[in-house]
Amino acid sequence: MTRPFNFSAGPAIMPEEVLRTAAAEMLDWHGSGMGVMEMSHRGSEFISIYENAEKDFRDLLSVPKEFKVLFLQGGGIGENAIVPLNLSRGGEVDFVLSGSWSKKSYKEAAKYTKTNLAASSEQEGFTYLPAASTWQLSNSASYLHLCTNETIHGVECHRLPDLKSMGSKSELVIDFSSHVLSRKVDWTKVGCAFAGAQKNIGPAGLTIVVVREDLIGQALDICPSAFNYKLISDADSMYNTPPTYAIYIAGLTLQWLKKQEEQGLKGLDAIELRNKTKADLLYKYLDQSELYTNKVNPGDRSRMNIPFYLKDEALNAAFLSGAKDHGLLQLKGHKSVGGMRASIYNAMSIKGVHNLIEYLKEFEKSRS
Ligand SMILES: *Cc1c(COP(=O)(O)O)cnc(C)c1O
Repeated sequence: MTRPFNFSAGPAIMPEEVLRTAAAEMLDWHGSGMGVMEMSHRGSEFISIYENAEKDFRDLLSVPKEFKVLFLQGGGIGENAIVPLNLSRGGEVDFVLSGSWSKKSYKEAAKYTKTNLAASSEQEGFTYLPAASTWQLSNSASYLHLCTNETIHGVECHRLPDLKSMGSKSELVIDFSSHVLSRKVDWTKVGCAFAGAQKNIGPAGLTIVVVREDLIGQALDICPSAFNYKLISDADSMYNTPPTYAIYIAGLTLQWLKKQEEQGLKGLDAIELRNKTKADLLYKYLDQSELYTNKVNPGDRSRMNIPFYLKDEALNAAFLSGAKDHGLLQLKGHKSVGGMRASIYNAMSIKGVHNLIEYLKEFEKSRS
């Protein structure tokens, strides 16, 4: 059976090989007589799954040893509260607004700490990432929050800001939920990074936090214990029951990622090159088209989430039903912005993007 191509923004496409392995191991993982869902999180079987997943995540993203990798629950939106509870120390926090997700984070943080709006592109419909040189940083902020890939507006940060060189003493916190593991991260610029798994890693329910050790241990008293980075870190992510099955699937995805090859490159380098190739193909087609448009500033366009509009919105329904007939699923844009969106995460092949472009062409031709 060949499966259709799935362009969902999340929960999203998984590598087929991962789904097949999980299916084959559902009833009996490696001769243990148990499915992974049925295992104690403290037993040797699951501990080995967890340790391998953490190791592969660190290897792929070259996470330095002074950073802890925490596996927890709560999602990206949970982190909107958990990060200020752990890192704000009750002081001021800077925010850069470049789309719906950073705006959500900004609002939530204000419940726990004082917030400063350093920059925003909301007036221009979140069509670009405000240049770092324009940010109005607070003198006393403990961190600056940046969403490095805005999943809804399709705005990606292609070069992390160096806050130190901007005269700021604050740490950079990034929400990299929707492009985690799609490209390398320059950890010298980052204090903390968090991601929900359901875009590029695995099933919903798992959140990964990468946080530099010296930032741990300063949580506000009101921080729930289950979300206190110190308690989670001291217990190797087993302070409470972690999302075990989601960690297992994430582990399989990480193994799949390590095996990827593209033009002589391997692992994350291979996937980064492939992601760039896929996005370039799709933007190139959209930019020359008479029917479709993408509104994002070319230098800030996301490689993962590509929103686009049909110039005649009355064609939207016909476009989507035709897409489905061509084996191209979940292209409808987010309800807050309308139009279409193609999410082309790691598991989307170049073939899937070619098929999408073929359909875009065919549909455009049939309307002219
Ligand atoms: C999907 C997403 C989230 C939300 O994650 P939940 O798991 O729904 O809490 C947060 N930030 C970004 C950038 C996302 O794409």
